[in-house]
Amino acid sequence: MSERTEIASLGEFGLIDHLTRNIELQNASSVVGVGDDAAVIDHFGKQTVVTTDMLVEGVHFDLMYTPLKHLGYKSVVVNLSDIYAMNAIPTQIVISLALSNRFSLEAIDEFYEGVYAACEKYGVDLVGGDTTSSQKGFIISVTAIGEVAPDKFVKRSTAKKGDLLCVSGDLGAAYVGLLFLEREKKIFMESPGVQPDLEGESYVIGRMLKPEARKGIIEFFAQNQVTPSSMIDVSDGLSSEILHICKQSELGCILYEEKIPVAEEMKKAAFKFEIDPTACALSGGEDYELLFTIPQSDYDKLVLNEDISVIGYMTEAEQGAHIITRGGSRHAITAQGWNHLKQ
Ligand SMILES: [Mg+2]
Repeated sequence: MSERTEIASLGEFGLIDHLTRNIELQNASSVVGVGDDAAVIDHFGKQTVVTTDMLVEGVHFDLMYTPLKHLGYKSVVVNLSDIYAMNAIPTQIVISLALSNRFSLEAIDEFYEGVYAACEKYGVDLVGGDTTSSQKGFIISVTAIGEVAPDKFVKRSTAKKGDLLCVSGDLGAAYVGLLFLEREKKIFMESPGVQPDLEGESYVIGRMLKPEARKGIIEFFAQNQVTPSSMIDVSDGLSSEILHICKQSELGCILYEEKIPVAEEMKKAAFKFEIDPTACALSGGEDYELLFTIPQSDYDKLVLNEDISVIGYMTEAEQGAHIITRGGSRHAITAQGWNHLKQ
């Protein structure tokens, strides 16, 4: 990039005008968007779901290997994932940034390219936000708003004994992608100039840098009249999310290792680091898949969707939360996951 425009040359209002100049509102519920004291959202008899998430440079992301466009995209997607996890449809976001003068207008434009790409892909409107300066580092706060038909939202606390435990997509790849990025960063820090060797790892790295939220699963539920009895998105690793559902629903569960969906690319990559793919799926995190329970009577509907795996079932609380390994042994699930390597 050759051009550099100081953000100070635009001023705050100039920056807002610049960043929001192409917005066209897509949702009837977006009554007033950017440009007033507050946005106005009318849900026409639906219920509103709200979630917010803050991302801090050096804590949640590393700009050494995170392109700003991907960061903008991911900042939106991780919030939409929480809206979908309520069985709701996201409709609006507001986004606030704190940035130091290290960032030029061109850099922020790249970030917003990712933000708007996510807005377009998921059909949400950016309706407001705030920008401020920071002494150091980049801080991003995104709030997402969604809508759901009255009382069709799905909580974590309402799973029933005997329900099937299900998950979308595949797990563990984002974590292995992060391991590659961290490894290459370390090599680069020790010998600058060495080109990163990430050949053939585009799947796992893509899962880390540019995750997607599971819009299609929520649409599938609506089309097939499936209402999960409980749901959560997988941001911290499968075992941690399973324990949230168990604890909040006051149940136990049985999880089958052989049923946990993992991508071939992830397995190969995990073996390069000599780590167990199951451990990556259980403890890795940042997959943004949906973990949910359904009554056994809905099983026939689920088999229509190749992107959904049944991985276990819910039991009484007294039985605890356990994983049955491929070898047939039984272990308690812990928040850190369960790890072959520790056996
Ligand atoms: Mg969540």
